Amino acid sequence: MVVGAGLAGVRSVEALRARGFGGRITMIGEERHRPYDRPPLSKAVLLGGTDSTVVDSDLDALEVDFRAGVAAKGLHPGVVETTEGELDYDGLVVATGARPIRLRGDGPQHVLRTIDDALGLRSLLGPGRRVAVVGAGWIGAEVATAARRAGCAVTVVEAAATPLAAALGEIGAHTVPWYAEAGVDLRLGTMVASVDHGGLTLADGSAIEADVVVTGVGVRPAVEWLAGSGIRLDDGVVTDEHLNTSLPGVVAVGDCAAWWSRRYGLRLRVEHWDTALGAPDVAAATLVGDAAVYDPVPYFWSEQFGHMVQYAGHHDGARPIRRGDPSAQGKPRWGTCWVDAGDRLVAVLAVNRPRDLVQGRRLIEGGQRLDVERLADPAIALRDC
Ligand code: FAD
Repeated sequence: MVVGAGLAGVRSVEALRARGFGGRITMIGEERHRPYDRPPLSKAVLLGGTDSTVVDSDLDALEVDFRAGVAAKGLHPGVVETTEGELDYDGLVVATGARPIRLRGDGPQHVLRTIDDALGLRSLLGPGRRVAVVGAGWIGAEVATAARRAGCAVTVVEAAATPLAAALGEIGAHTVPWYAEAGVDLRLGTMVASVDHGGLTLADGSAIEADVVVTGVGVRPAVEWLAGSGIRLDDGVVTDEHLNTSLPGVVAVGDCAAWWSRRYGLRLRVEHWDTALGAPDVAAATLVGDAAVYDPVPYFWSEQFGHMVQYAGHHDGARPIRRGDPSAQGKPRWGTCWVDAGDRLVAVLAVNRPRDLVQGRRLIEGGQRLDVERLADPAIALRDC
């Protein structure tokens, strides 16, 4: 049985069949939609380029009993309690993703997680509308991009000193000019106290008037239904490197899973599309008794203000080395390579430099010692460093 019908859920069904599992598979999802991709929601959907991002997967051919609009409420050994009664399982994939955090206040507050959120928000964007976006993270930057393209007057309010602070730290400061160039009013170091009718109230008591408020301040794993089940939870469902949870016959994948990374020697929970795509094959292998380890170099991309931002790896404690000039005229092509004490690449950020991402990811996987001076020279291909 698969609980959660997002990308990780449907990929789990595909992987189970690809590994020869011929038994019955039931997949439940609380949304009333077929599985769909979320990255386009804040890009093509919000920009008006498409209304559907349904995953290209033939559920009939997969012979999956897919039940849309059914939510899991509890878990006991061998049984999932759902909004439509109990369902038995021999093996279970937990793939319930994550839910956006909301701010205090009783004013209308939009989040962007589902296709319904995206279509609803898009209908509110238009010339002259005042849009306040809370959070200059990945989602906030992409929403601001779309809202400006739609002709809105956009203010982005961020508590940290730079955009993308949680993911990139101080390096996120290089994206500040992008906001000004796009005509977005970016307020850094600004705390929101509440979302009220007519806009935001800030912690200093002042207000930002807005017709539309969008909150993009992060997500929490959607694991409340597992409370009391005995499964180990710690910022998501805790798994080993095979994606086994603490309960027999239960694996977890995607945004809700905090897996043991052999590569980095720590537990990782990565809210990125590539994880939802790749982890299910290992989870399916584990359920059918094949030996497999999930040990990826995590990968993520974002498209904001006309720039392609890509990141691979995990850079905690590593030394950053700049590649290229973020303030170059036109479309700057720059990035950062993080190296460990042995001059091995552990993470790469590539802004408008897609080749750096591809080559950097291979170097991280290879783990060889590099020439740090050459890494700093953007004219030298990463694979030649
Ligand atoms: P989800 O996609 O969240 O799917 C989980 C499903 O489970 C949901 O449908 C949910 O309703 C359902 N569910 C939850 N609880 C229950 C329950 N109790 N019972 C039954 N069903 C339940 N990643 C990138 O790498 N690059 C990007 O550019 C990017 N852009 C993004 C833009 C947006 C707007 C969003 C929201 C995400 C973006 N991501 C991006 C992240 C990426 O989409 C997620 O990492 C991915 O969707 C995770 O897939 P998942 O299947 O684990 O979880």
